[in-house]
Amino acid sequence: MSDRVDDRIEIHSGDITKLKVDAIVNAANAQLRPGGGVCGAIHRAAGRNLREACARIGGCETGQSVHTEGFDLKAKYVIHTVGPVWRGGGENEAALLASCYRTALKIAKQIGAGSIAFPAISTGVYGFPLDRATQVAVATVRDFLAGDESIRRVIFCVFGPEAEAAYRRELGI
Ligand code: ADP
Repeated sequence: MSDRVDDRIEIHSGDITKLKVDAIVNAANAQLRPGGGVCGAIHRAAGRNLREACARIGGCETGQSVHTEGFDLKAKYVIHTVGPVWRGGGENEAALLASCYRTALKIAKQIGAGSIAFPAISTGVYGFPLDRATQVAVATVRDFLAGDESIRRVIFCVFGPEAEAAYRRELGI
């Protein structure tokens, strides 16, 4: 079973805004504002319609996800998820991060997105330790895929050699 699940998981190294998939996931902030990091890059590439769509939604809680169109992106949809800020590990950060992956995948299923790309949520300015975040990301995605046939392709889009090594280690590829 787990072999078949891993057949639907891959690693891509590079800029998530360039990917031609049904949905890319944004490591958003709670206000759904453009901000920096991967979020800033997604907003720049998608154009001002994305900013306006996010403003209409208004906000999103930590560990939850919402979706918009992809606008000028190649991706049809953007699923915005709000990762936890790392505060030492005692504030439910791992469960909240798992919830980001789970709620994003649930939305992908609802909107019929069969391919989805995730950045390494919370591992930038939000400070979640990369190895622990990678364990949460991989375990949560495997678990979801084991109970779902509709999502055919999950891409972990890594930015830089350190993140790539962490995902390769965790996935054993
Ligand atoms: P967070 O606030 O959730 O920590 P960041 O954007 O600061 O979000 O970082 C999340 C991850 O996204 C980091 O691993 C960072 O290296 C990566 N990243 C930054 N820009 C891009 C991009 N254009 N494509 C994919 N990943 C990116």
